Amino acid sequence: MSNSYFFSVRAAERITSKRVKRVSLWRNGAVLVHFKNGKINTIDPLNFQRDFVDFRQRQSREILLSRITPTLYACKSAAYEKVYSVVIEPERLRCSCKDWEIQLEEGLQRPCCKHCYAVLRDLGCSSLQDYLKLPF
Ligand SMILES: [Zn+2]
Repeated sequence: MSNSYFFSVRAAERITSKRVKRVSLWRNGAVLVHFKNGKINTIDPLNFQRDFVDFRQRQSREILLSRITPTLYACKSAAYEKVYSVVIEPERLRCSCKDWEIQLEEGLQRPCCKHCYAVLRDLGCSSLQDYLKLPF
């Protein structure tokens, strides 16, 4: 977690419930949030990490799933027509959406998007860590 995809303005607004102009990162790991009212505050990076998961878990509740095979799900949000596929792999879930792709590009070995969280819930898991503990 080291760039603007994770430390985004929208995430900072969700965390602080305030209007945010921009977020900047310091070399020592501190995250500075510049509010629209001119004030500046630091936010613990862990808050962004939690928001990253919570936000996607909340969104995942609106995903409609069809299990095509034991290791393949078709995922569709209630509001949009586009269908994404989630493949169950031994070490991770793989989705065909943009969010999953970007997380991979940003260096996450096991990306997890709202579709993956929906599948995890269907598998009876509360998190990816929870899922990885299961025997195969
Ligand atoms: Zn996805």
